[in-house]
Amino acid sequence: MNLKLYRNMLDSLNEGIYFVDEDRKITFWNKGAELITGFPADEVVGTFCYDNFLNHVDAEGNRLCKDGCPLQATLLDQQERSDFVYLHHKKGHRVGVQVKTMPLYDEEKGFVGAIELFVPESRTFSSEWTNDELKTIAFTDALCEIPNRRYGELQLKKVRLEMEEGEAPYSLAIVDIDHFKLVNDTYGHDIGDEILRMIAKTMTGSIRSTDTAVRWGGEEFLLVLPGLDEEHLYPVLEKLRMLIENSRYRNGELEAGVTVSIGGATASPEISNEELFKIADTNLYRAKNGGRNQVVV
Ligand code: GH3
Ligand code: MG
Ligand code: MG
Repeated sequence: MNLKLYRNMLDSLNEGIYFVDEDRKITFWNKGAELITGFPADEVVGTFCYDNFLNHVDAEGNRLCKDGCPLQATLLDQQERSDFVYLHHKKGHRVGVQVKTMPLYDEEKGFVGAIELFVPESRTFSSEWTNDELKTIAFTDALCEIPNRRYGELQLKKVRLEMEEGEAPYSLAIVDIDHFKLVNDTYGHDIGDEILRMIAKTMTGSIRSTDTAVRWGGEEFLLVLPGLDEEHLYPVLEKLRMLIENSRYRNGELEAGVTVSIGGATASPEISNEELFKIADTNLYRAKNGGRNQVVV
């Protein structure tokens, strides 16, 4: 095979591949390397790998080009190496790549340099996380440690589908803490956060296992209540309101509690989830206007 054919073959790969000679001068840079790094071959070929444009760093931020460059190590001892490094994209950001370096031999001349092969690996999250853990993180509210809005939206879609398939209608409720701004102003934001956690715990501790309490945002929660019809909605929400009113955050001398206003609504196939949500929101507004610490369905 002639050299041109080799180059065409290497250019057709998605992996980044480059060659350096014994002096660490870059002699070949394929299309994959251009795509991954943003540096075109004509800016790179002929420069030296210690010119440092790629400026590899490892996960600890050590600059590898000066000390610990896998390609240089392979040039010295002619051993293969694998490593995970972060290279420098032409635009400035870092790209995590799995790197493999190998010695390069010529049939006549013997050892002539080294090859580096690199593939980007998306490591947005630490690779130690399992898929289940990632899902849990993606769907959990970090402060209250209950399902987050993203999860709540999926749950609403799910119960809607179940109703359309013949299951009993579901209800939803918006729970909004009364005068929470005043709570923050009185006790400070950190205690405010603790009270939010307390409310979340009271809610999750008093709903059925098929119900979902979601942190919808700020000091608002959403309850998704499958199989709960109009007739039974009010007493369920009223019990919850009462339990929250009777929850107390305690810390040393400090004792603090809050009340909530709750707006509820029951689904039917004729109205969309958006409309259902609007009805619940209107009911919440009425509960606030009616003097707070009450349920309107
Ligand atoms: P209302 O009875 O009308 O609901 O009065 P409110 O003060 O609760 O209502 P408003 O929506 O005006 O204020 C909500 C406040 O909730 C404002 C914000 O400071 C507070 N808040 C929102 N998210 C958080 C949070 O994560 N932590 C804390 N500590 N406070 C929050
Ligand atoms: Mg609010
Ligand atoms: Mg509020």
